[in-house]
Amino acid sequence: MIIQRVVLNSRPGKNGVPVAENFRLEQSTIADTVQVGQVRVKTLYLSVDPYMRCRMNEDTGSDYLRPWQLSEVADGGGIGVVEESQHHNLAKGDFVTSFTWPWQTAAILDGDSLQKLEPQLVNGRLSYFLGAAGITGLTALLGIREKGHVAMGANQTMVVSGAAGACGSLAGQIGRLEGCSRVVGIAGTDEKCSILVQEMGFDAAINYKKGDVAKQLRELCPGGVDVYFDNVGGDISDTVISQMNQNSHIILCGQISQYNKDVPYPPPLPPDTEKIQKEKNITRERFLVLNYMDKQEASVLQLCQWIQEGKLKVRETVVEGLANIGAAFQSMMNGGNIGKQIVSISK
Ligand code: NAP
Repeated sequence: MIIQRVVLNSRPGKNGVPVAENFRLEQSTIADTVQVGQVRVKTLYLSVDPYMRCRMNEDTGSDYLRPWQLSEVADGGGIGVVEESQHHNLAKGDFVTSFTWPWQTAAILDGDSLQKLEPQLVNGRLSYFLGAAGITGLTALLGIREKGHVAMGANQTMVVSGAAGACGSLAGQIGRLEGCSRVVGIAGTDEKCSILVQEMGFDAAINYKKGDVAKQLRELCPGGVDVYFDNVGGDISDTVISQMNQNSHIILCGQISQYNKDVPYPPPLPPDTEKIQKEKNITRERFLVLNYMDKQEASVLQLCQWIQEGKLKVRETVVEGLANIGAAFQSMMNGGNIGKQIVSISK
């Protein structure tokens, strides 16, 4: 059977900026027969995520991520529908997902590597299982629960960087649901800031590309910052950390501002910021959602319940067509997305 697939065409270099041309669309084939234990799936949605930047390097710099190989098919979070099954637990028409879905229009996969999805849990919005009801939502929820020390009634102020992105937009809302009394976001455009406040219930949002972030933060967080959900690192985080309270907490989710630089993860703080962190006893422990998969089932149900109740507002930026996945990745890394960046494969 003839399929389309996307392979890694070239590496951007450890300190290079990734571009769409680092990926290449090509025609390929898959077997015509499905062996026992396998299924043939048609791809419906693919996820593009910042961690993929590390997979574009020869050495990902991380023990849990494998590099993509040149001229080999890329992979990541994906959702599809079973078209033919030789697996005891999967039938034609079932919707399934995996963290290692190949970037191709159809594939033959090992049935045991797939998780069955229940579309009614997300009001039929299947792609949410790659975002708000998937690894992104889990990252926001478990990051807050495991590292945030958020308590109902404790009058805490939370700041979120990368706030209009997939994790950030959920983290601010979940921070509020879990008990924070004030939530302030930092994002890269006025449109994003306005969505955070008007749609997602943030108290305020700062466009870090305009004006003085430190000054605005002082005005918007008069009692200081108790919890910082950090998606970006770099200068923005140094500014936030300088305004954090004694015994406060950083949720070290990601450091996207450093992903095109050849630095270790997590990148060490500059000496002045590290001094503040130590003097104020601010926690900054590494957080990796994959370490908490024993809590996946219950946490996904919680996220789905909030989505159904309208308590968690979800935004997606959807790009159509496998041919555009490289461009979608490039755009997301440059702030082109609001909420989760999804690629929809309809043909
Ligand atoms: P995302 O936030 O939806 O997309 C990336 C966003 O980052 C862009 O839209 C852009 O928005 C912002 N950005 C890009 N370059 C920046 C820079 N130099 N400075 C400040 N902001 C910049 O992506 P996501 O999937 O939600 O991931 C967010 C973070 O969470 C990433 O660091 C990712 O690695 C991390 N993550 C961690 C885990 C974990 O287990 N710890 C799991 C999933 C994701 P602006 O317009 O605001 O610049």
